[in-house]
Amino acid sequence: MAKFNMQKEKTPMPELPPFERAKCFAEVAIGYSEEEAINEAQRCLDCKDPSCVKGCPVGVRIPDFIREIVKGDFYSAYAIIKETNALCAICGRVCPQENQCEGNCVRGIKSEPVSIGRLERFCADFAAKNGVVEDKNPERITDETPRVAVVGSGPAGLTAAGELAKRGYAVTVYEALHKAGGVLVYGIPEFRLPNSIVERELEALERLGVKIECDTVIGRTLMVDELLERYKAVFIATGAGLPKFMGIKGESAVGVYSANEFLTRVNLMGAGRSVYATPIRKSRSVAVIGAGNVAMDSARVAKRLGAEKVYVVYRRSEAEMPARKEEVHHAMEEGIEFLFLSNPTEVLTDEKGEARGLKCIRMALGEPGVDGRRSVKPIEGSEFEVEAETVIVALGTSPNPLIKMTTEGLDFNRHGCIVTLEDTVTTTKDGVFAGGDAVTGAATVILAMGAGKKAAEKIDEYIRLKG
Ligand code: FAD
Ligand code: SF4
Repeated sequence: MAKFNMQKEKTPMPELPPFERAKCFAEVAIGYSEEEAINEAQRCLDCKDPSCVKGCPVGVRIPDFIREIVKGDFYSAYAIIKETNALCAICGRVCPQENQCEGNCVRGIKSEPVSIGRLERFCADFAAKNGVVEDKNPERITDETPRVAVVGSGPAGLTAAGELAKRGYAVTVYEALHKAGGVLVYGIPEFRLPNSIVERELEALERLGVKIECDTVIGRTLMVDELLERYKAVFIATGAGLPKFMGIKGESAVGVYSANEFLTRVNLMGAGRSVYATPIRKSRSVAVIGAGNVAMDSARVAKRLGAEKVYVVYRRSEAEMPARKEEVHHAMEEGIEFLFLSNPTEVLTDEKGEARGLKCIRMALGEPGVDGRRSVKPIEGSEFEVEAETVIVALGTSPNPLIKMTTEGLDFNRHGCIVTLEDTVTTTKDGVFAGGDAVTGAATVILAMGAGKKAAEKIDEYIRLKG
């Protein structure tokens, strides 16, 4: 009988010390050793009716893979995860497990839940280190193989492409940027998700025969209708990359970036490093507006670029922050300063029109609204100024309108998201399917993956029916 571990807390994850990591882009969390993974796996109760699985959007057989870790059979553990989660090295790093599998874990009732995410990451990293290579099937592709086009190479597009390739389709992924991966490469910084991890997943897809065509903007280089002439079906997974701004005075000043632009310049174009394809403004003081994961990433990147003072300005209190607790904790450890209950009213500029600060007003929390979130209102006469030579606006994003402007027959809602039927992936245009942030608005990696998987199933059904 397997040994059970009564330890109440999760087995800690070794991390780089804050003073060291705040100066470089090396991954913060180092990962479990084999001993640490087994120790954590032994905290699992191997429940008969595992509630953790119900919280997993792709239905990973959690207790089954954890049982293999307890036995020390890490290869089998990895194989079990891989059956349902194609991008487990990524999910193990960035999924909000606290709201999903771990949020449902029964050990979480009286103590900390089992650290399912860290165990998933351990298995994926073990497989990579030991050269595990998944099966490949490109030789099956012939001129007769039915072809499917995927637009966008984020987690939704990549998951759909992998699932379709495994079902025997010839898949081409079209990506607007010069590098594939979507937010996984242009948004999430290397210290949370190293690019090498995403590259490994892309190589696995290529072994499955998936073709990736970068620098191809659908709606400009090629239209959706042109894709429909060449492919049996099209899956649109173009994400939600259009930034929102506050509309306050001075927001168009030099030195004000959307979080998407700031992160793309640094993560994808190497800005701020010795070799770069695009520059970035280097400042002593930076203010980030917003309090989600994107805001935390922006603040921590600004710190790594050498800013001495980095502020996160948020109109509500710490309790209402939408970012993952772990990310907030890491940001605080790295010296990011949080200005809670503070709302920017103006970007202050110098005589050259460049940002020099933020004018803010203090806010008071009111009663919870219908959505359960507490309202906020400004406190009259409480204005104050914050020094900021760079201002980064991280207030959310919506889908880019290009596909909407160039595609007849596709319905969109008032937020610019593609409307789908009850199955969540079939659109109003024959042969066109959609999923991920382009349908839901800005959400999570695992939900985008879930949509990609569902779309592959529905596209397969559609092509079989059409004959
Ligand atoms: P995306 O990842 O946005 O990919 C869409 C792709 O389509 C992009 O590569 C884009 O260039 C391409 N594209 C767009 N238009 C066209 C076109 N017309 N033609 C061709 N290609 C096109 N989620 C988490 O779960 N955990 C996190 O920690 C987390 N952190 C985040 C941090 C940041 C900075 C950001 C921005 C998001 C974060 N998210 C996180 C959210 C998560 O990354 C997204 O929900 C997810 O990537 C959505 O996947 P997707 O495939 O729908 O779209
Ligand atoms: Fe293990 Fe928690 Fe899942 Fe039960 S709910 S099987 S304890 S991970």
